Amino acid sequence: MEKLNSKAEEPPFTIEQFFKFLKEKKLMAAKCIKCGKLYLPPKPICTNCYSKELNWTQLGTKGRLITYTVIHIAPEQFQKNIPYAYGIIELENGLRIPGIIKGIEHEKLKVGTELEVDFETEPSPNWPQWPRYYFKPA
Ligand SMILES: [Zn+2]
Repeated sequence: MEKLNSKAEEPPFTIEQFFKFLKEKKLMAAKCIKCGKLYLPPKPICTNCYSKELNWTQLGTKGRLITYTVIHIAPEQFQKNIPYAYGIIELENGLRIPGIIKGIEHEKLKVGTELEVDFETEPSPNWPQWPRYYFKPA
């Protein structure tokens, strides 16, 4: 776990910043310093204790599949990928994040499958020039 310590240098708690971290192959969430609650997507204010003291915390990349679906009809930018699996995984800290699942036959997917987050190296066409993550078998 890596922390960014200097409060003055804490990057903004925006989704854009989240994607900037992805480019550095870091899965980051906003963490409330007071109550410890994690936010992904990030928030500048803790909605649990209303503290504005948060910092960016690096998350572990391992998790378990909570739910998934196989997509056959996709938005235009994902057409070339169909059929693809899209699911939600629960990370070890309890945070749940959605994403595309790669590298495993769809028939082998089931709730509880251990997956980990990996990072796209190339931005997709028709996507804002942001890097993305996906899930693969752990
Ligand atoms: Zn809090």
